[in-house]
Amino acid sequence: MIIIPDIHGRTFWKEAAGRASEEKIVFLGDYLDHYLQDELWSGVTEESAIGNFREILDLKRAHPDEVILLLGNHDCEYIYGRNVCDCRCYDDRYDELQRLFRDNKELFQIAYERVIAGKTYILTHAGLQIEWLERYLPGWKLENVADKLNERNRLALDTPAPGNTGFAEALAVTDKMRGGDRGFASPVWVDARTLAEGYQLSDIVQIVGHTAIEKARPVITPNVIYADCSRALSLGDDGILRYIDGKECEITKGNPLKPSAKDDNGYSFGFDVFGRPFCKKCGSSNVHVWAGMFVDRWTCGDCGNMDHM
Ligand SMILES: [Zn+2]
Repeated sequence: MIIIPDIHGRTFWKEAAGRASEEKIVFLGDYLDHYLQDELWSGVTEESAIGNFREILDLKRAHPDEVILLLGNHDCEYIYGRNVCDCRCYDDRYDELQRLFRDNKELFQIAYERVIAGKTYILTHAGLQIEWLERYLPGWKLENVADKLNERNRLALDTPAPGNTGFAEALAVTDKMRGGDRGFASPVWVDARTLAEGYQLSDIVQIVGHTAIEKARPVITPNVIYADCSRALSLGDDGILRYIDGKECEITKGNPLKPSAKDDNGYSFGFDVFGRPFCKKCGSSNVHVWAGMFVDRWTCGDCGNMDHM
């Protein structure tokens, strides 16, 4: 699977485009609305960004099953409306771009799920947070969360005014890091710092874009891969994340793909054969994991055992 993080008018996705017939290519969203520095340094303009986006749409139409286009907050600003996102955007061509998105609404989705080397990966633009799912996606489970999000998106976009739907309201939920007033946010909005400090969905690995954390390299933690590094990445059948030239990405903190390596290192939590954490003190698998860039705290929901991994 090839992962293409936030585009914002840039063309780095093209180095992976030739592989669309053999591999899945997942775009994490945010296709337009370039940064001023890209205009100054690499000549990305409004015109080139829109042309680039049309080429991405063509790639999707040519390989509808292999190419996955996720929606980011910037894309929601067009396809839903400014009540979901009110960022910098191409104001002078807003109506035309809204039409372009809406005319191609069936090409977009909110989430993509895939099992690789026995691990379930869920890809969204910004990330899934339990607090948001509990409030806005009743009946969600890890097994159905991607389908449910995509179905709600489809239903909303099929209405004449998607911006007026309950799902648009849910997508608009923004955390404090992004100018909102909540401690959590929607899958198109949650900032990586908020996601990293929150309760993690510990049975899966999330792959997200949206927040540029480090230059030119992804941040890999046990439960979340923060991929917004301006480079195309490739997740192999061996579960190893690589750059498109084949070089392995460095693991930032813990390996979500080989958790058993930590098992004998004196921690009071281990991982079962499915890679799910369990408490070594009482054997419970009811483990709450806060694992990210800033915190790495594991607690047992049954005996209260706590450890920092
Ligand atoms: Zn974004």
